[in-house]
Amino acid sequence: MSNISASRSSSTSFPFSHEHFDRIGGTEVFDGAEIIMQENGLDILKLSPLMPMPTVTTSFDDIHYVDLGSQIVELHNLSVADGVAPTVARVADSNVVFSVDMYMRQELFPHEFKEDTNFVGSGIVLNTLVDWDPAYAINGHSNSNSVEALRENAEFLNELQAKVEARFQEAFASRDASAPVELLFTIPDEIEMPKYSGWKNYDTVFPGYVRRMALSVFNGG
Ligand SMILES: [Zn+2]
Repeated sequence: MSNISASRSSSTSFPFSHEHFDRIGGTEVFDGAEIIMQENGLDILKLSPLMPMPTVTTSFDDIHYVDLGSQIVELHNLSVADGVAPTVARVADSNVVFSVDMYMRQELFPHEFKEDTNFVGSGIVLNTLVDWDPAYAINGHSNSNSVEALRENAEFLNELQAKVEARFQEAFASRDASAPVELLFTIPDEIEMPKYSGWKNYDTVFPGYVRRMALSVFNGG
């Protein structure tokens, strides 16, 4: 069952997209603003000696609505993904979805930035955005604002997860008890997805994506 909350935007509302360093901070200059964060992020912020601790005035679990008067902004936490508190926004009336750091157009992020990303969760988030059938997909990281880029990246994660899961199925079926764990070390060099070899950074970072997906599939993390 979903936990739903709501607030009416009387002045300015700032929802954080997630808890990463480059997405936090600066809100203190907006006196009286509502600062919104998915509740998982609150514990993470306390753990970092570097991150500024924003004063969060509103936290939520699954869904939070911000009523702008003429339109309602839905804030959704669909899964852990890029961090533990990813929040995507949807304005149903305008058929717009908004996400941050979740994808780029035919380009892979350096995998060092994805060490805390659960790619199974990222797949859940991107596939949900696709299922909402948006007319516009705004990407708060780069200039790759297109529904097509969103769809391509959802498909990329679906295919990557399927390939990784298939290799684990084989490892478990081999009846060699150590095979699934050993696979974690070898799978980055075993899987290729030539269809995406033209994507920027594929050659250098794709093995890191395979490793991260393997850990997400095998370890849930
Ligand atoms: Zn991020």
